[in-house]
Amino acid sequence: MEYKNDLGKPWRYEEDGFTVTRTSMWSPPGCHPVGCGLKLYVDKEGKLDHVEGDENNPITKGRLCVRCLALPDYVYNPSRVLYPMKRDPKDRGKDAWERISWDEAYAIIKEKRDYFAQTYGPECMAVFSGTGRSGGIMCQEMAQKVLGTPNACYTQSGFACYQPRSAACSCVLGAYYPEIDYAGGLEGGYDNPEYVVPEVIVVWGKEPLPSNGDGLFGHVVLDLMKKGAKLISVDPRVNWLTTRSEIQLRVRPGTDAALAMAWCYIIINEDLYDHDFVDQWCYGFEEFKNRINDPEKGITPEKAAEICDVDVAKIYAAARMYGKAKPATIAWGLAFDQNQNGNQAGHAMLAIMAITGNVDVPGGQIIGEVPADMGMESEMAAGAGGAQIEKADGAWEGDSTDVISFGGIGDETAQGGWEGIGEELTQKTIGMDQYPLYCNNIRMAHADMMLDALLTGEPYKVRMGWIQSTNLLSPTCCAEPSKWYQGLLGLEFCIATDVFLTPSIQGCADLFLPIQSCAEKDDVNMTHYAGSPVMVGAINKAIDVGEAKSDAQILVDLGNILGSPRIAGRYTTGAEYTSDNRAVIAGMDIRALGDVVYYQRGCNYRKYEKGLLRPDRKAGFLTNTGRVELYSTAFEANGEDPLPYYSEPAFSPRKDPVRGEKYPFILTTGARTYAFFHSEHRQIPRLRELNPNPLLEINPEDARKIGVTDGQWVEIANEFGKAKFKARVSPIVRAGTVHAQHGWWFPEQEGEAPNLFGVWQSNCNDLVPNHYNSKLGYGAPHKCMSCTIRPLNENLDADMSMIWEKFGKLVK
Ligand code: SF4
Repeated sequence: MEYKNDLGKPWRYEEDGFTVTRTSMWSPPGCHPVGCGLKLYVDKEGKLDHVEGDENNPITKGRLCVRCLALPDYVYNPSRVLYPMKRDPKDRGKDAWERISWDEAYAIIKEKRDYFAQTYGPECMAVFSGTGRSGGIMCQEMAQKVLGTPNACYTQSGFACYQPRSAACSCVLGAYYPEIDYAGGLEGGYDNPEYVVPEVIVVWGKEPLPSNGDGLFGHVVLDLMKKGAKLISVDPRVNWLTTRSEIQLRVRPGTDAALAMAWCYIIINEDLYDHDFVDQWCYGFEEFKNRINDPEKGITPEKAAEICDVDVAKIYAAARMYGKAKPATIAWGLAFDQNQNGNQAGHAMLAIMAITGNVDVPGGQIIGEVPADMGMESEMAAGAGGAQIEKADGAWEGDSTDVISFGGIGDETAQGGWEGIGEELTQKTIGMDQYPLYCNNIRMAHADMMLDALLTGEPYKVRMGWIQSTNLLSPTCCAEPSKWYQGLLGLEFCIATDVFLTPSIQGCADLFLPIQSCAEKDDVNMTHYAGSPVMVGAINKAIDVGEAKSDAQILVDLGNILGSPRIAGRYTTGAEYTSDNRAVIAGMDIRALGDVVYYQRGCNYRKYEKGLLRPDRKAGFLTNTGRVELYSTAFEANGEDPLPYYSEPAFSPRKDPVRGEKYPFILTTGARTYAFFHSEHRQIPRLRELNPNPLLEINPEDARKIGVTDGQWVEIANEFGKAKFKARVSPIVRAGTVHAQHGWWFPEQEGEAPNLFGVWQSNCNDLVPNHYNSKLGYGAPHKCMSCTIRPLNENLDADMSMIWEKFGKLVK
């Protein structure tokens, strides 16, 4: 096909018999809010024919993953369910669904919601969410604004995805998550004169090319490498980027806090830190330095080498390379979250960024502005224009978590908010007594305690559930999903929204509401969940498919039907709602945003000097002391050590050698693939061809010892569960460590219980227990479990011809 450049085209235009709609992708199908630019080619019959990358997108510039290129296969997949359905709760697991209308579905929800709220109190309802999808982050809104319950719940043990890092950011940095600065908000991007290309990029516990995690478009790392940035990788696995790094530290999984503390040791003791920034903007440097040098709790590079099982010379070389580079930046990932010691690893990481003076400088770590208090706008404008730089000496007197916790864009936008449901109900949030920081920071119930409540009825019985666009039984997003299955079966009524009939819905739901894909709705893409000043994108509707509705439309419909005060009478369409609650960060309504498709938010560097990180518009950070708290008063107030420390992973063979004899392999999970977004896409044949079977990566040395050959099926097991995988024998993983793919189910298999599309066959999350969280309630050992491995004689290879037969003929 002849290559055509569509730069400068309007949001919709005609080309070669197709209507082309330019849009910005979020989900579903899944992805974090990266905001990649798509051109959707729709034929004369109104059907999506094909997808191309949009050259006009200022960040992605026409580049796309296979998942977006396969969008027609997703929206017209024959297994998609395109109308609401109900089923008698006694038939859970059976294929006993009955098609109903939306009006009937809404009437059932109103009847159930009124009954449960009036009979047992609204707290007996809970809304469950998962990762990444645009509807997932509406979990709090559905719970608190619509149903009136405080119990929104991200079901992953210890919210081991983003929030352990985010909590460290709130408590230590007093700002939202610091992302690598790739000029995403600047007109002209890398060529903008304000921007500086980082000399060094550290990719730590993250694989940005397949994952584009947290909204970071992974290929910006390649862009910056082409412009001269050098790479350091910290990852136990080998991937494309690690092989292009100057240095790779292949750490033992779960030891990141020790390594980060050793970097602090080198940067401080070799005087590689930024004295001006530390003096002017940091709190507790002396205490922090003393901890780092403490013979017992401190971590020298030599000690880190022993703990992390890496060459000490490489630790010195990497820390010096980063410490001497100006600017330098770090992309830090899920390894910090999926670990009991993650808050401390995050604390040390934020200290590295801060003491080297890389926070909020061009080419360093970019952080988001927070909205001003009423009446502060004029001072904000003065600050943005370069008000007098003052020392951070004013304590913040409000509750910083109210402002920072999700996207830094305030209660009425990203979150449901608790104000509408009152203090008494708020205090009934499950987990609030034990983990107030966790519950307040993200305004959600604690996941592990929610599971306890489902299984035991304590502190009270949860009776009605709402599964908001998550497939939690074949998850990234929960530990021990078989226990969640038992817990969900105890609900008296359960509603679920999704695109496909997943194992979670087939197993547990009584009412199914079909949701639209990204191509079918008008919506707003908040890149990086709006936390970084990068880009806001329009999601422009191109097609209609069946009776599916957007998450926002369902929220608005129900808000009106249930008389929810913050929705009823204010909105009639989902687009109006997202216009007010998301497009607002672009300063325009959804239609105006739709016209321009992408809005770059601009970038104000060194916002701490200008009062742009605090609603009171004083200089400094949004912490109790107004400074970056190397000594965290917020951790201290919540019963945690105010300084970082290292603790050995609970299930490592080193921690318990007797158990280690039985379960000698370190089990790490969660790395993403190019083919799938977590548990999505298994029914898309051309994507499944890339990865037909669930894989366990095992080092050749280990494979030889236990008699496993490449391609052989094996069973991994520990005291919590077991699962079957196809062995991929490769030095990609360290000897002694194995990596299991997550999110597997088999849409081609029998859907009825007990099989539930084979959801229990290769479910590595069943080997990961709940309740191994940090003192603050965060993190889970997804990346540092351990297991034994048994070779199998059976062959469970997927039959791709059957998968093509079942899902290859699209229903248009
Ligand atoms: S990063 Fe996500 S939205 Fe972007 S092209 Fe890839 S799959 Fe699509």
